[in-house]
Amino acid sequence: MTRPAPFERIPAHQGIVGDKLTVRRALPLRARRTIGAWCFFDHAGPVAPGSGGMRVGPHPHIGLQTFTWMIEGELLHRDSLGTRQRISPAQVNLMTAGRGIAHSEESVDPARGLHLAQLWIALPDAERHADPAFAHYPDLPVASRGGFRMTLLVGNALGERSPVAVHSPLLGIDLAAEGAADLALPLEPAFEHGLMLLEGEGMVDDEPLAPGTLLYAPPGRSELRISTNGPARALLLGGAPFEEPLVLWWNFVARTHDEIAEATRDWNERRRFGEVEGYDGPRLDAPDVSTLKLRA
Ligand code: MN
Repeated sequence: MTRPAPFERIPAHQGIVGDKLTVRRALPLRARRTIGAWCFFDHAGPVAPGSGGMRVGPHPHIGLQTFTWMIEGELLHRDSLGTRQRISPAQVNLMTAGRGIAHSEESVDPARGLHLAQLWIALPDAERHADPAFAHYPDLPVASRGGFRMTLLVGNALGERSPVAVHSPLLGIDLAAEGAADLALPLEPAFEHGLMLLEGEGMVDDEPLAPGTLLYAPPGRSELRISTNGPARALLLGGAPFEEPLVLWWNFVARTHDEIAEATRDWNERRRFGEVEGYDGPRLDAPDVSTLKLRA
């Protein structure tokens, strides 16, 4: 049996979301742009009660699905389809931008603590111009293995199937341990995978892992051994390598600079995306699109 390719340890960097929420950004990084179709991964919190919560004013998206996994606290989502949806712990919000949508997010009670993961899923070419849509998933499949409580967020694993509707072969699992835990998790060898500790410390095969580092496993691995000596939480992402070229800029996922520039003009001139009703604050302005060539 051939040995799987070694892990890559990739440090996440720090980002700011909305008014002042600090996050660990684990995708995209210079060394790793995507894991399957997962193309953006922010880990926010845990933030202690009284820290002010999260407020992100109306802003647009194209070409992606936003995926919110709530661990602690509550957010209110509003979008230009007229959706108004509260999300509570152990729930997922999935917003499909398609050709264009706008939304806002705010803490229901800014005095409470907050802990969540926000990810983007790149839409394949056949889906990226489709109508926008929103779905809320209050119940995800849960399985207990080796001391971990595992929630199947996306895909098929653990003998379960997630109801979360995505458009490419993809996996997302939340692993939570209250104490010592040890698990050999079967993987789909055709997928690449990435694991981030959200809290606590752990071992992945022989690699110690702590929050702030993305552990990337190239395709070809059929099992991952994950263990911890104490309370810990991790997020495992996987997917078939996404082969379509992507241009990510601000809140847009596209294929060309021209598409990005057009979406920026449409947002600034109030076309295409519709309006978000009810958010108490200003919409977010797009940055100067002339910076695009420097960043892409
Ligand atoms: Mn957004």
